[in-house]
Amino acid sequence: MPFSACSAPGKNSCIHPNHIPVQQITKNSFQPLIFASNQSFRISFDATILSSSIEYLKGVGPLRADILKKELNIFTFMDLLDHFPLRHIDKTIVNPISSVHPASEYVQVAGTIISTAVMGENRAKRLVAKIRDASGEMDLVWFQGIHWIQKGLQVGQAYLVFGRAGFFNGVPQITHPEMEPWEPSRAGGKAFLEPVYPSTEKLKAKNLGGRQIGKLTYSLLASLKEGDLPENLPDAFLKEFNFPSRFDAYSQIHFPSSEMAYKQARERLVFEELFIAQLRLALIRLQRHRYSKGVVFVQVGQLFNSFYHNHLPFELTGAQKRVLKEIRQDMARGKQMNRLLQGDVGSGKTMVALLSMLLAADNGFQSSLMAPTEILATQHYHGISELLKDMPVQVALLTGSTKAAERRRILKGLEEGEIHFIIGTHAILEDKVKFHSLGLAIIDEQHRFGVAQRAKLWKKAAIPPHILVMTATPIPRTLAMTAYGDLDYSVIDELPPGRQPITTVHRYEHARASVMDFIRAEIDKGRQAYIIFPLIEESEKLDLENLMRGYENVKAFFPEPKFWISMVHGRQAPDVKETNMQRFVQKDTHIMVSTTVIEVGVNVPNATVMVIESAEKFGLSQLHQLRGRVGRGADKSFCILLTGPKITNDARERLKTMCSTNDGFQIAEKDLELRGPGDIEGTRQSGLLNFKLADILMDKSWLDAAKQRAQMLIETDPTLDLPLHQRLKGYLQMQKGKLAWSKIS
Ligand code: ADP
Ligand code: MG
Repeated sequence: MPFSACSAPGKNSCIHPNHIPVQQITKNSFQPLIFASNQSFRISFDATILSSSIEYLKGVGPLRADILKKELNIFTFMDLLDHFPLRHIDKTIVNPISSVHPASEYVQVAGTIISTAVMGENRAKRLVAKIRDASGEMDLVWFQGIHWIQKGLQVGQAYLVFGRAGFFNGVPQITHPEMEPWEPSRAGGKAFLEPVYPSTEKLKAKNLGGRQIGKLTYSLLASLKEGDLPENLPDAFLKEFNFPSRFDAYSQIHFPSSEMAYKQARERLVFEELFIAQLRLALIRLQRHRYSKGVVFVQVGQLFNSFYHNHLPFELTGAQKRVLKEIRQDMARGKQMNRLLQGDVGSGKTMVALLSMLLAADNGFQSSLMAPTEILATQHYHGISELLKDMPVQVALLTGSTKAAERRRILKGLEEGEIHFIIGTHAILEDKVKFHSLGLAIIDEQHRFGVAQRAKLWKKAAIPPHILVMTATPIPRTLAMTAYGDLDYSVIDELPPGRQPITTVHRYEHARASVMDFIRAEIDKGRQAYIIFPLIEESEKLDLENLMRGYENVKAFFPEPKFWISMVHGRQAPDVKETNMQRFVQKDTHIMVSTTVIEVGVNVPNATVMVIESAEKFGLSQLHQLRGRVGRGADKSFCILLTGPKITNDARERLKTMCSTNDGFQIAEKDLELRGPGDIEGTRQSGLLNFKLADILMDKSWLDAAKQRAQMLIETDPTLDLPLHQRLKGYLQMQKGKLAWSKIS
């Protein structure tokens, strides 16, 4: 079997398979203060050969450089070094052909070519070469470059052949193998660990397959001196963890002299990557705490108190109180608050938001509450207006469908300070929306908003408003701290009292009639139900047809006038959506048939049944969000996951998870496990979890070590002025442009 250098081959290979290099994200509005002092660094990181454009590397040139940039984000020599191998293969191990079986992945065989022939037509046209060793025969197959390859192949000549094994009509074969003339002398010698690099079809077509990339990397490394890859970590770390130097680590991770050397090299680079990331976040956070100005909310005043004592419809949970206190303290410090509030669906984040807004009003400041959909914004608006109806607070709703006259009135009211709370969609972000004194900006369901959009909020006041980002997409705690280490973090980890856990079951299509009977029984008790259809996104038209068919189907089970059904989907005009939604909220309709537009935030406590059609098509966090639409009142609620008969193992695992727990954080951990961090909603766009090498699951202990070291360093030497931190500081400065210093969440 080929040697694999990965400690966990397969899904969690050495590097995350869809590793995307951290990209430049936004411009620097935060100039890290530590770099303002002490301008001279003894070690220069940016003048090295490694910042040269990849085009100038021998064997590359402008054409191939272009493809490397486009396909792999390789712009410089350094980027090529950061293009890490997926695994290594010991090329001295040769597999007998007879040992190739359907489960073998990569194989290497050595044998003689006994024939070549072009077969098939059109797209099936291919070159097939038969190769034989002492144990048997197999086929080598090419679909491209047929004539060119046939010309180069010598019948009767011995070759060393490497590639992914497959079977076609029971015959073992390798498609598009790597070949070289066989030199038996190499067999049985010292282990030769050849790196396998990720590549793409486009690259292969330009002769930049994994092997060629390896050759480029090899010659680049051979041309480097130790000083070209200067050390960046403090000596203490190298000693403590017995790490190789940075130069050695890069050499060994590509072309290891032994399995052990590879392991050490990888650990060092993983630590380096995580440590630098953690250090950056810690610096941003420190800087914000120390230097950023924020409006001061000193007093808890009339509005807050009167609402709290006279209008609050329930007692706050312990977690709500604690979070509110954290927010209050934060907003009174004179520094800008940047806080992430996580709380499972239904944990009562809205009330925390409202109380924070009242606090701002008590101190003479306006607040904004931004939601990702019009439905949600409108619902927040109605809910909050209702709660505040006896209070001297002006609330307005601003969305894309606000009529022109109303819009003018709102813009004026905001600018003159007559409107205290503005609730809306991203329409709030538009440049035309100016505030008299915006002091607090709240973003609900933050994963729907991009970083750039959020940055716009900053500009709406002379002193940036306090920012509170709320999300129910449960990001596992470890991840949250990694991705959002620059934010302060609050969590509501307690549901309001009296909630009963939602019972979740998985039912196959053929049980549909009994599911409908169940809904009818709930409706008879005065309850309401949701039936959700998936968005497949291949075609809006098909999705709509699918939904309409579903709707007709539901109608057949629940005929008018005994039953009434609302339907909401993305293609409706906002006012139609709104009317349908309101009819359901007001209990005029019994059933809400909808696509996932209903996913976030919608609150109808009387609804007790959530049916999710084609549940196998949904991701875990989406299922959890959807389920969170029920179980919001005191009545027992149910979630029914309907699927067809055929589901994949991953889907089965998701359904099983849903049926076994209601805990969003547990679900998030499972999601992370099933999909890998790069896929967790809301983290991909932040770019912060796309480590090149580190895998935050597999390398959890290194993450902890890095986080702890970064914190300690910041505490002891926040400006990195100590001599022993100079090279780290130099390195950070060189890297400065590469990360989002201006992230606000
Ligand atoms: P989410 O955190 O998902 O945004 P919401 O803020 O929409 O949750 O709250 C869900 C429901 O719980 C709402 O009906 C809200 O009125 C209610 N609620 C919030 N806090 C409490 C509490 N402390 N006691 C009882 N009900 C509460
Ligand atoms: Mg909410």
